[in-house]
Amino acid sequence: MAKKTIVAVGGKCSSRGQDVGFQFIKYDAVCELAGSFSVTPGEKSASMGDLTGKFVIGQNFKAHGCKLCKNRFVYQCGACKALVCYDGAEHRDVACPACGAVMTVPATKDGRIVMSGKAESDAWIMLAMDVSGSMAGGRICETKQAAVDSFLRKFTSGRFALVTFGWSVETVLPFTTDLRKVENAIGALTADGGTPSPLPHILSRHADFLRAAGKRYLVIFTDGAWNYGDHIADAQAIKQAGVEIITIGCAGADQRFLSQIATPGAHIVASDGHLAEKWAEALSIIKQG
Ligand SMILES: [Zn+2]
Ligand SMILES: [Zn+2]
Repeated sequence: MAKKTIVAVGGKCSSRGQDVGFQFIKYDAVCELAGSFSVTPGEKSASMGDLTGKFVIGQNFKAHGCKLCKNRFVYQCGACKALVCYDGAEHRDVACPACGAVMTVPATKDGRIVMSGKAESDAWIMLAMDVSGSMAGGRICETKQAAVDSFLRKFTSGRFALVTFGWSVETVLPFTTDLRKVENAIGALTADGGTPSPLPHILSRHADFLRAAGKRYLVIFTDGAWNYGDHIADAQAIKQAGVEIITIGCAGADQRFLSQIATPGAHIVASDGHLAEKWAEALSIIKQG
């Protein structure tokens, strides 16, 4: 029979943000998480570095969970290696209660203790939608439906933001990974007003987007020529920040101008009644990365 040893390891409770202990039973090359106990401040316990092998969550821990909050699962911080209790579901961009590193915690798998890591390098996609008066009526309806059905719903993850240009240029929705929120924001669009360029707003208000690591796309949909401004220079500045610009021009849009501000090969000429396939084209440019 394999020799069993019991090792107590200090960790953190994600619900309370407090110290909590985890008890492992070590046998063969397996470290089985068997229980949890409260610790008094300053109490010394082993660190995870003292344990090696295959980590599993045992039946006893699953039955009782974290001593403080009853969470049934545990992950290990990819930065500081601390053990942290959690609910077993995926969490994006959460701060480790031990070291503060912002990481994505994966969902638990096969009773293993998962490790958090850097956020997935999913694309950042900013939609800039023309909501000028000329879009009113059937065109805005078709655009909204196409943007949702043929574009947004084809993603399972990613960061999206929504900027509109009409009476004014507005960030209707800042970057979010909640695709339902994006869908609702698109669904709520109404058209009215003129056609200012959305680019100065993006340059001045979205440093997060311009400086972010990873693939970034600005998808511009418009049906008219833009008001005064040096749009070419603005677009150049955005592209120099590493953002790919995809343009979809419909009806009265200046197609030549849009092909100049787009990343080479990323301008799409559209017409009413065919917007779904044009949004699908924009999608394929992004999916081909
Ligand atoms: Zn807990
Ligand atoms: Zn940490």
